[in-house]
Amino acid sequence: MAEQLIIGGVRREASDGATFDVTEPATGQVLTQVAKAGPADVDAALVAAHAAFADGRGTWARTNATARGRVLHRVAELLREREDLFATTEARGAGHPIGDARWEVGAAAGTFEYYAGAANKHFGQVVPVQDAGLDVVLREPVGPVALIVPWNFPLLIACWKLAPALACGNPVILKPASLTPLTALLLGDLLVEAGVPEDQVHVLPGPGGIVGDALVADPRTAKISFTGETTTGASILKASADHIARVSLELGGKSAAVVFADADIAAAAADTPMAVFGNAGQDCCARSRVLVERPVYDEFLAAFTATTEAIAVGDPLDTSTEMGPMISAGQRQTSLDYLEVGAAEGARLVCGGEVLDGPGFFLRPAVVADVDNSMRIAREEIFGPVVSVIPFDGEDEAITIANDSPYGLSGSLWTGSATRAIRVARSLRTGTLSVNTNRSVRFEAPFGGYKRSGLGRELGMGAMDAYTEVKNVFFSE
Ligand code: NDP
Repeated sequence: MAEQLIIGGVRREASDGATFDVTEPATGQVLTQVAKAGPADVDAALVAAHAAFADGRGTWARTNATARGRVLHRVAELLREREDLFATTEARGAGHPIGDARWEVGAAAGTFEYYAGAANKHFGQVVPVQDAGLDVVLREPVGPVALIVPWNFPLLIACWKLAPALACGNPVILKPASLTPLTALLLGDLLVEAGVPEDQVHVLPGPGGIVGDALVADPRTAKISFTGETTTGASILKASADHIARVSLELGGKSAAVVFADADIAAAAADTPMAVFGNAGQDCCARSRVLVERPVYDEFLAAFTATTEAIAVGDPLDTSTEMGPMISAGQRQTSLDYLEVGAAEGARLVCGGEVLDGPGFFLRPAVVADVDNSMRIAREEIFGPVVSVIPFDGEDEAITIANDSPYGLSGSLWTGSATRAIRVARSLRTGTLSVNTNRSVRFEAPFGGYKRSGLGRELGMGAMDAYTEVKNVFFSE
């Protein structure tokens, strides 16, 4: 039987009984069927969410913040108890190596723990106005929120949105990517089991062009939090403009790791490959451009290539696997096409790019060297295991090349000089930057992009602002 969708916290079939197949990336075979929501299901979820919110007078919105926090703590506990189930489902449904998938379940639980604690620490203000009286600023839940999630980190990104949205008292309508709906549905059940009132919880798998579009265009959707492609984000901004929805967008990237000659080259070369090839390169923060100062270019490239060639590519359920399959044949073909584009542009393929024999959507990580930043492989988001290595001369040129991108999501800086680290960090136009490491996202800190990489920030305490309205009330003396 097909996995059912969730409206009002309850599993049910799509209103027209439609279903769609979910494919396992490691085998290329159908894993299961899932209910395919349509416009009638979107309407049912919005009706239920609106009734539940009741203009801010609904039970969850009025539940005191400490009690909401307790429920979110329970969500985290249940996630940790069910690590095996969630990790295995993510490994099979999204192709994540099982070790990574286990880490993601822990990070998802950590996100809920953080917002469990944040729920009763998101204060209003008292403003010293000149009129005689008391001026207070209240933070109120915004209303039904549409949370639209991509396929690359289905569980984790859903939790980055769900946890603050629920901490603030909003009903949630989660729209998972069609390629990876399974952990979102498990999560919907778990929220209800943890104590989130049923009428706050809706999970609608189904096509973005139908379900996503209907959610975005509907004036009953108070806020949209979207993660996905830049072009989809732009269309969401347009589609939601008429009803002035609150919108936050986490979009694509073409992030640079900048390696200066004074860096610990061995450490940078050992760490950076997985910063682009992790999750088979399907990571918005992937360091898909590696900029290397010319005096250490050959040394770095040799070490980087050796580390890349040693990456274990294979079955995501094997604990020794470091890189699993890509999500689909189409996504793999996109990477193969870009490798041809790079060759035609004059770049040099140093290693990788081979399709693995057998079933599944596997591709060996590819290192492309001697890339010029004007080439398409350096400018366009490939979203696959392909890295462009680009030489540079001196600090100014490094900054110019790193910033010469339509995107500005993430990045890293490797140097032995603290003063250079400060100068360059302040000059890079990117929302997240790591110095002498490549890890980008910490749920305690804001995350999001400059330029075409997004609008607004997720995570950290700032997300609590993003899921609330500000009300100013003046009490006359
Ligand atoms: P898409 O933009 O294609 O899809 C993202 C989600 O939006 C999916 O749930 C999709 O549904 C839905 N969607 C598609 N069309 C519409 C529409 N017209 N209206 C509303 N929703 C719609 O991105 P991908 O899933 O391909 O994800 C990869 C992209 O996400 C990459 O570009 C990557 O850089 C970016 N990304 C950004 C991150 C960030 O934080 N900045 C983090 C992770 C990824 P369906 O699956 O049914 O098509």
